[in-house]
Amino acid sequence: MSNEEKLFSCVKLAQSYISLFLKEQMNSEQLQNVESLFLSCPVVVDNNSQEVIEFGKTTNIGGQATTDKISISLSDIEKTNINNEFELNKLLGTIIHEYAHKIRAINNVYGEMFEEAFASIFAEVCINNARLKLSDNQDNKEVFEMLDSVNYQKFESQVRGILYILKQKNLDQKLIAEYIAGNQEKFKQACTQIFGNTFIEYFNTISSRNNDASETLLIGIIIQYIKQNGLNICEYWHKDANQLSQNNVYFRGSPTLCKGIVAAGKESFKPEEQEFYRYCKSSVEIANENSSFINQEKIDRIKHLIETKFSLKGKSLEEIYDTIIDLCSTYIQHQNRDDEESKIFIEEITKMIPNINSFKTKFVNLRVAGLDKSIFENIDLENITYNDIISNMDKLLNIGTDSFSK
Ligand SMILES: [Zn+2]
Repeated sequence: MSNEEKLFSCVKLAQSYISLFLKEQMNSEQLQNVESLFLSCPVVVDNNSQEVIEFGKTTNIGGQATTDKISISLSDIEKTNINNEFELNKLLGTIIHEYAHKIRAINNVYGEMFEEAFASIFAEVCINNARLKLSDNQDNKEVFEMLDSVNYQKFESQVRGILYILKQKNLDQKLIAEYIAGNQEKFKQACTQIFGNTFIEYFNTISSRNNDASETLLIGIIIQYIKQNGLNICEYWHKDANQLSQNNVYFRGSPTLCKGIVAAGKESFKPEEQEFYRYCKSSVEIANENSSFINQEKIDRIKHLIETKFSLKGKSLEEIYDTIIDLCSTYIQHQNRDDEESKIFIEEITKMIPNINSFKTKFVNLRVAGLDKSIFENIDLENITYNDIISNMDKLLNIGTDSFSK
């Protein structure tokens, strides 16, 4: 079987899984839109599978949805044995995740990390729902879970927390479908009715990539919800948590929900739930330990990268010049981004060059004026520092003298 044939049969299967789930939740017009998309949007093998290398870490891109098509990485297709259920589901998960973006784009604009998290949970729901409905053998199945990057998982933790509460009102699957294939405004309205007006603020915040800000807001919303309505937390710990059932098509813990539960205080829960409250407390401790471990890994990796890549020691004039160009362009790319790694980069680079922003501005100005190579005049290259470069740039720009206003 060629890779194209393999992908084609998986795409057909993915489409049928999506339709199977959506037809229980959506009206015929919405379904029709999705079916039309299946016809109009090609899914192709991506022969130059992409890798994103950022801050010394390489991430493979399994799939990508663009305006005119969905591309699935060749290496992901090649390594999948479609006779192995788990491997097949992994590939289906990638395809359905990308379809989720395309389906949402019919009526809505891209929703950043909220959409990314929902797309993966939607893939889990479609796959597990189909495994239950289409298979004769229902015994001992484990819930299929998408294995996303740590960054995605953090946002999924927020969405899973929201869904846990919606599930108690039997609205979770309906609203997953509404968010992906329906109308975003209706989704927001439904959530605002349940969680209060702060949900709108939350919804706008999670459209950025700042996990801490949106998680803090959501924890506030969860606390308020629990204080007003209470929350059944026994179910969160039900003993067959990994067992696939109609009632359990996307279960995975939510550290965010646990943080909200713990912050609501044990007095918010009934005596018979105290045991579960204690479980939440210990799982929050574990989640905090994990995230500080992961955060430290990021800081170490980025520090190392800055020290090696942007150090001026032992470099030739040409290499130093390239280093400065690279430094300025990396800084420009990350200065206004709010993802964690960019923020760590800015923090760490500021330790090396405290006035990095004016450093960049001065260098760019000199470059435009064609004077950028003159910054190395009268500098001992063996012992060159960023401070030497800054003072030479200042001289060239006549900063501090009256001849240069501003
Ligand atoms: Zn995505």
